[in-house]
Amino acid sequence: MSGQNAEDTAEYIIRASSLSGWNDCPRRNFANAYKHLVKNAGYDLRERGKLVSGAFGTSVHAAAAHAMRQKLSNLRVDEDDLNDVCVAKFDEEIADGVSWDQSSKNRENAIKQMKACIASYVYDVLPSIKDVESFERLDLAMVKTDKNLSGHADLVTKTSIRDIKTGRSGDGCHGQMGGYALLQLANTDKLPDELIVDHIPRSAVTKPYPGAVAIKYDVRVCVAEAATMIDIISRTIDEFVKKPGPILIPANTMSILCGEKYCTAFGTDYCELSKKVS
Ligand code: SF4
Repeated sequence: MSGQNAEDTAEYIIRASSLSGWNDCPRRNFANAYKHLVKNAGYDLRERGKLVSGAFGTSVHAAAAHAMRQKLSNLRVDEDDLNDVCVAKFDEEIADGVSWDQSSKNRENAIKQMKACIASYVYDVLPSIKDVESFERLDLAMVKTDKNLSGHADLVTKTSIRDIKTGRSGDGCHGQMGGYALLQLANTDKLPDELIVDHIPRSAVTKPYPGAVAIKYDVRVCVAEAATMIDIISRTIDEFVKKPGPILIPANTMSILCGEKYCTAFGTDYCELSKKVS
């Protein structure tokens, strides 16, 4: 295995979005976040096709960003307009192929689901959003380290940071939301008053749409969790750079994402736990 060059260690990005869920399988998440380090250490990872869940989330986010741009320009937010933005983004996302799943079996299904999400966003979420400031990328060079914390909050208002989730649950986002709060603190010297996840679930077309829910997070708990996870990830990077190889990074073969559909390390030398013995 080759060692790391000095240039490789100059700067690492820790993404706020990686601060939640890291512990589900740190070895998988390290491979996702620092693919170049893993490859430079001599390990090949598998290519993973695009999942419909990811394409769906990206498309709903594109529509929500459009709505925020309209709001910031004091223009009317039109539901049909948002649907068009969403579908156009989805078609772009799946242009090179996508892996459908039980919830979204095909494009027609997915479009129906997206329209339900957009309607819920317009009627359940938008009315509660006041004082939009931005939906810009937030970055922070962490003091006295070679790591940068980076994040893209979906929405920053005068008092809150909000993020949209379209998956099964909007719970368990403490680390990510705390990461956004730390980024805002670094940029403005002030923590947000509120951290909110707008859960707008991708829901089966055969069932009535359950509606969006705004989930409030405790700012203090989130910030503490983010700081812990930044420390853990930072030390993992340093250890990997010192001794390139996965063995020091915990792995969880019991994760529901442990399989070739979700993990680029599955069946590779980087995660020998997942290799079959012949
Ligand atoms: S194969 Fe399973 S245990 Fe190994 S890194 Fe991937 S998810 Fe983790």
